[in-house]
Amino acid sequence: MPESTLCPLHQEVLASEPAEILYGVYAIARDVEDARANLFPNSFLTIRGGGFYSPSYPKHQHVTCCRSCREAEKLWTALRDRPFSETF
Ligand SMILES: [Zn+2]
Repeated sequence: MPESTLCPLHQEVLASEPAEILYGVYAIARDVEDARANLFPNSFLTIRGGGFYSPSYPKHQHVTCCRSCREAEKLWTALRDRPFSETF
């Protein structure tokens, strides 16, 4: 099996799951960036849309992700108890 289909952190086969597309201009908080890189690199619960939003735009898109990473992000986010982004 090619290495690219496994999460390097969890050694789990990546799956296709929907991700929420977030539109608008926002910055990801530094500790969230660090946690993403180290704790759930293949989570992709949310992905960036463009800076503008129209109701006709899709709200979800399928991405290749690791389910263990997603569980880790949900747990980490619940414990953090703050929004992950800071809007301008
Ligand atoms: Zn993973």
